[in-house]
Amino acid sequence: MKVARLYDYLDIRIEDEPIPRPGRREALVRTRACGICSGDVVPWYIRKKAPLVFGHEPVGEIVEVGADVRHLQPGTRVFVHHHAPCLTCRACQRGEFVQCPVWRSSRIVPGGMAEYFVVPETNLAGDTLALPDGVGDEDGALVEPTACVVKSLTRAGHVADASALIIGLGVMGQLHVVLAKHLGARQVIGADLVPGRCARARDLGADAAIDASAGDVVAEVAELTRGEGAEIVIVGPATIEALEIGLRCVAKGGTVVQFMGTPPEARLQLSTFDLYFREIRLIPSYSCGPVETRAALGYIAAGVVSATQVVTHRFPLLAAKEAYRVAAEDKGAIKTLVTFDGA
Ligand SMILES: [Zn+2]
Ligand SMILES: [Zn+2]
Repeated sequence: MKVARLYDYLDIRIEDEPIPRPGRREALVRTRACGICSGDVVPWYIRKKAPLVFGHEPVGEIVEVGADVRHLQPGTRVFVHHHAPCLTCRACQRGEFVQCPVWRSSRIVPGGMAEYFVVPETNLAGDTLALPDGVGDEDGALVEPTACVVKSLTRAGHVADASALIIGLGVMGQLHVVLAKHLGARQVIGADLVPGRCARARDLGADAAIDASAGDVVAEVAELTRGEGAEIVIVGPATIEALEIGLRCVAKGGTVVQFMGTPPEARLQLSTFDLYFREIRLIPSYSCGPVETRAALGYIAAGVVSATQVVTHRFPLLAAKEAYRVAAEDKGAIKTLVTFDGA
């Protein structure tokens, strides 16, 4: 089979390797579509993991199951979460799935950017979801990113009736706009350096979208919220500068969600005076677990979230290098998918 292996930022090579064999409690999946994640085009993050077959947002069809697998059959189209928790450790009991050591170490083999992959027992039992007929392959590839947004908005607190600022309007920002509106946010404001992304956010329901290349986000948010600031601020870009802007835009008693990981050496200077007396919550939201993937599939099956809202580019696996380049550098790209023959 063909796989796309990342060696470095934009160094992606198509390679041949044997189709992996599933064990007794595993399944073999033929890939139909796989999204390129915003994190998968961040150079320091890639270098930490490379060389590796990336792709953790896959949809495919089960083609073979091990002798001891009962709950899923060949022919079933599935979303498979790349990471799945043990459900028994202390972190899992607290619902902090991404802190589960099994979640961290579990992974599909070799990855979603391959014509076939094996789903290990933990992932198959804990976070492999059959897709309803009405959910297309491209919609299904949005389960993982949507689940990350479900977790982020859950951590943000009371979204209904809140004013929300979404900084960064790539695919994750757009999905935040869609779900925040769906959850009843009173006012959703987007901000991005790319005017086309601002326009898309407005199309998807944002009440306002600030072109940060032309204006001052902090001043415009103050104006749009009558000096109050946004009660919920989602910071997408993985930079200290974006976090600082978020902290300057948040209302008293509000919540700032750090949605993306910054590089390990990054440091944020905080006024703990402000944090305390303005009662600002700064909350991280990293990835997602099985609770959120199920909720996400529910939103997708209900048509709240769909590929038509965010998928802008599609490439075959053989053009994976170009797909990653577009995802990394093309300002017109919102969500880029790799699609597979026969899908
Ligand atoms: Zn992702
Ligand atoms: Zn666990």
